[in-house]
Amino acid sequence: MFEEFWRETGDAAEVVIPGWQTMSYFSDVTNVCWFLEPELDRQVRRLHRVVGNAAVDGYHVLVGTGSTQLFMAALYALAPDAAAAAAGEPISVVSTAPYYSSYPAVTDFLRSGLFRWAGDADAFKGDSYIELVCSPNNPDGAIREAVLDPKTGNGRTVHDLAYYWPQYTPITKRASHDIMLFTVSKSTGHAGTRIGWALVKDRAIARKMTKFVELNTIGVSKDSQMRAAKVLAAVSDGYERRPEQTKETTTTPLRLFDFGRRKMVERWSMLRAAAAASGIFSLPEETSGFCNFTKETAATNPAFAWLRCDREDVEDCAGFLRGHKILTRSGAQFGADARYVRVSMLDRDDAFDIFINRLSSLK
Ligand code: PMP
Repeated sequence: MFEEFWRETGDAAEVVIPGWQTMSYFSDVTNVCWFLEPELDRQVRRLHRVVGNAAVDGYHVLVGTGSTQLFMAALYALAPDAAAAAAGEPISVVSTAPYYSSYPAVTDFLRSGLFRWAGDADAFKGDSYIELVCSPNNPDGAIREAVLDPKTGNGRTVHDLAYYWPQYTPITKRASHDIMLFTVSKSTGHAGTRIGWALVKDRAIARKMTKFVELNTIGVSKDSQMRAAKVLAAVSDGYERRPEQTKETTTTPLRLFDFGRRKMVERWSMLRAAAAASGIFSLPEETSGFCNFTKETAATNPAFAWLRCDREDVEDCAGFLRGHKILTRSGAQFGADARYVRVSMLDRDDAFDIFINRLSSLK
């Protein structure tokens, strides 16, 4: 979906890397995250200040190969150390259902002795856990808060804010949680660059997360970090022109979040019309709030549609849709009912249009 925007942006987001550059493992040995390129650190902080979606002062910025690597790093850093784990059980990792399907898969695939997937946070009993809070939530777009931490105050929460950007939701507050994860995959659309970042308050946790990335991949591609920095700079430039640009530049830089919001509003209205035309699907209610970034009231436009098939005879909605050449992911993979499916709202225009046509014709 974002390709069209970046095509028009042209060389403002282009990078050229000479053969002799970015060769070392190291970026800044004085930083906790010693493989973080200083320019990426600067552009991450700058963009959060422009958007106002997360606090950066007093936070360490850590870079990962996608936020997926930092998610694993956070589990490693928050779990009791190996000696404590050897004496007891692995710590439980929970998230309120429906939860992002990668959380259980990534938590358990190496059968760690440190942590173990334990399912729905709402059903969890006990006080030793790591809670994953995804807001806006993948798959259903809900605005979420921690459910266990307010009860126990154990402080082991990871906030996955991949979708907390103005194209998807009003920015209602500056988030300031202990560990916050972000990614270019969802903010700018550059999933293939594989760059995510974490904002981490506590130095000891930041060091442990950095250690995980060191042991896992000895750092993160500098070429990718430079590309991500350039892309983030192009986004901020759209909203906050640097002083030296104001005189010479006559053309207004393009604005990513305006583009993204316009597309998402259009797509959600097409999807709601198609669901209504078919008569057999329902979607989450639209919610809205005042966006501190745009200074307007805005609706949430989630990156995924959490679609329910209301036909009594259809128990496996994903199977039913597959039969009509619509590929989705079943609700069962998100700890929910198979009458639900998750549909991506971020495909290219041509694929999205075909999806809308096929969906509206189903009875
Ligand atoms: N968190 C959430 C909630 C996601 O939906 C995704 C991508 N589907 C990710 C993390 C992964 O992001 P990345 O590409 O940065 O690894």
